[in-house]
Amino acid sequence: MSAIDGLPPLRAVIAAHELSAKKALGQNFLLDLNLTAKIARSAGELAGADVLEVGPGPGGLTRGLLAEGARRVLAVEKDARCLPALAEIAAAYPGRLEVINADALRLDVTAHLCPPIKVVANLPYNVGTELLVRWLTPAHWPPFWESLTLMFQREVAERIVALPGSKAYGRLAVLAQWRSDAKIVMRLPPEAFTPPPKVASAVVHLTALPAPRYPADPEVLERVVAAAFGQRRKMLRASLKGLSPEIEGLLEAAGIAPTDRAEQISIAQFCALARMLAG
Ligand code: SAM
Repeated sequence: MSAIDGLPPLRAVIAAHELSAKKALGQNFLLDLNLTAKIARSAGELAGADVLEVGPGPGGLTRGLLAEGARRVLAVEKDARCLPALAEIAAAYPGRLEVINADALRLDVTAHLCPPIKVVANLPYNVGTELLVRWLTPAHWPPFWESLTLMFQREVAERIVALPGSKAYGRLAVLAQWRSDAKIVMRLPPEAFTPPPKVASAVVHLTALPAPRYPADPEVLERVVAAAFGQRRKMLRASLKGLSPEIEGLLEAAGIAPTDRAEQISIAQFCALARMLAG
């Protein structure tokens, strides 16, 4: 059965272009076009938006994004072997797909895109986490992107959406939820990928808030959160004592018991403490 875009099935594309998966590039491909269309839909309304796709590989998700109506897709792929397969997709969607052969960690993509911009990616997990942290900590807020729809190892996805009081709650949750609404929109078993990875995955959708949820200086907040979760089993009066000689008083002024541990502290409280430290 031919696909909606008239292009060959992904298994045939991979065979024709000899795209054997490379472990070093974290290549676990999605070959089911129904699934890639579903992931594309989880990014929200695509018509009228430019989409940055990082790591398109043989193009399963790229085809989903285009078929679901993305105005334009800019796809950044490190592996040059994938370029001929991606060129076939570009020919099937004239003027809507631009491919850049580059390392996404070294490229400034903003010059190539027009707002509104949505980012969608199924990336190797280490690259995905590094890019997520970068996208959440730009020099200026609001950022260039309206939403991020990213595949992660399920355990990392759970850390991004975790609430206070849970084991998964930490620096990543505070960083993500301070400036965005973050939710898990899909869970995938290893068998959804070819070859299957060792662990389960999940898609996280983050929508940028127009302004951070509570006022705080980003650098001070980052220092507080890094120190607090760097020694998460300790009471805050001990883990944060390097930040100020008056830390107990500042904690109390921020409405935090000095005997509490990082895991119990809400984002509002971390921001209140960052304001006390800055002021
Ligand atoms: N999106 C495709 C899919 O869903 O089938 C491929 C997913 S595979 C998990 C990750 C892709 O990211 C591979 O094609 C790999 O070559 C690419 N990649 C890895 N590191 C990259 C980097 N630093 N910059 C751009 N692409 C990268």
